[in-house]
Amino acid sequence: MNAPVPTSRPAADHDGLPQRDNENCGPHAVLRDRGQREVFCGLTGIVWLHRKIQDAFFLVIGSRTCAHLLQSAAGVMIFAEPRFATAVIDERDLAGLADVHDELDRVVGRLLERRPDIRMLFLVGSCPSEVIKLDLSRAAARLSGLHAPDVRILAYSGSGIETTFTQGEDACLAALVPGLPAAEAAPAPHSLMVVGALADVVEDQMRRMLVAFGIPNVQFLPPRRSRDLPSVGPGTLYLLAQPFLTDTARALEERGAQRIAAPFPLGVEGTTLWLNAAAEAFGVSPERFREVTMPGRNRATQALERYRTELAGKRISFFPDSQLEVPLARFLAREVGMVPVEIGSPYLHRQHLKEELELLPTGPLLSEGADVDRQLDRCREDRPDIVVCGLGLANPLESEGMTTKWSIELLFTPIQGYEQAADLAELFARPLIRRTKLVA
Ligand code: SF4
Repeated sequence: MNAPVPTSRPAADHDGLPQRDNENCGPHAVLRDRGQREVFCGLTGIVWLHRKIQDAFFLVIGSRTCAHLLQSAAGVMIFAEPRFATAVIDERDLAGLADVHDELDRVVGRLLERRPDIRMLFLVGSCPSEVIKLDLSRAAARLSGLHAPDVRILAYSGSGIETTFTQGEDACLAALVPGLPAAEAAPAPHSLMVVGALADVVEDQMRRMLVAFGIPNVQFLPPRRSRDLPSVGPGTLYLLAQPFLTDTARALEERGAQRIAAPFPLGVEGTTLWLNAAAEAFGVSPERFREVTMPGRNRATQALERYRTELAGKRISFFPDSQLEVPLARFLAREVGMVPVEIGSPYLHRQHLKEELELLPTGPLLSEGADVDRQLDRCREDRPDIVVCGLGLANPLESEGMTTKWSIELLFTPIQGYEQAADLAELFARPLIRRTKLVA
């Protein structure tokens, strides 16, 4: 399974410029770049979070640009009641911040009156300077006082000043943590919290297996309904389902929870190791583990077979975007034989990615941060078979004859777990097949 991965360049190229440096990350050398980047902002997370928490509403306090981003990313269904909206703050509002707070109170009051189904309201900050000046956390606390106990109101920032779009989910989940109910104090692990938004179908599959192991009190953050917030405290073990939840993890640990170290549940191997880490933490026997997981493992291994034929030996590069890049590269290299050339990630959390980096074949250039022009130059020189990147880079690269995959699709599609392993491989096979047909 472990494919040899050749490299087209030294693991870390140094050109002596002050804004870049190199360091080692386990067995891998890392090129760190700090320059211009091409990523969506954290507002994008609303697109999958509003589907996940079914009685929540996301009110962006932002500009017309924010409204356009959300409308085009999420689509607007005119006959449906949307669960996100933008309160547009413009320059005139700068003159009187007090009026802005009054206006916000009015907007929230009107919204909650019209939509009694809303149980949790997120005020989502953005990056225009008019919005940064607002203290949305205080506004949320004040409004919560007015609308409790029917509606809980929280605030977080989805600003484009953060490094990447998945940080929107991290900020949202971190905002939930202080309000999680306290778990009963107990010396032994008494509950498992799976942290990170998963598609409902994936959550159901994972829950079934974790419960079948005999793990007590399996909970998910975020929950599907706001009244089902998981409890937390010493004795809560948590398992990250996504690699971009730095602030959420920190907030959970401040409440006494402990992280179960594991790779992420992408592919057969990743899912097995992820489930096994939970099983070991709760003392599940190896026999029980095998009994529960074997059917899914066998199905997934078989389903992956045809994609291995299509993808083996194909060279792939990642532009830094979702923070899923390392687990994806690990899956593609080890399970379908692809050859990662460059794995760019906006941020490499050394601790959360430790198990992933140990599995990742040595050879590809690992880069952290971004200098988009330099990486474009490297990409043109490498000419990988497929490039995983943001929407803004995909069209220009396609026009240069390269095949691309939008990284944001990996957040909108169920990709974790056994039943999704082949679908994940197919996401990479499809653009390659399309390109072959176009060329033929
Ligand atoms: S938050 Fe900032 S980057 Fe995102 S859409 Fe609004 S203005 Fe643009």
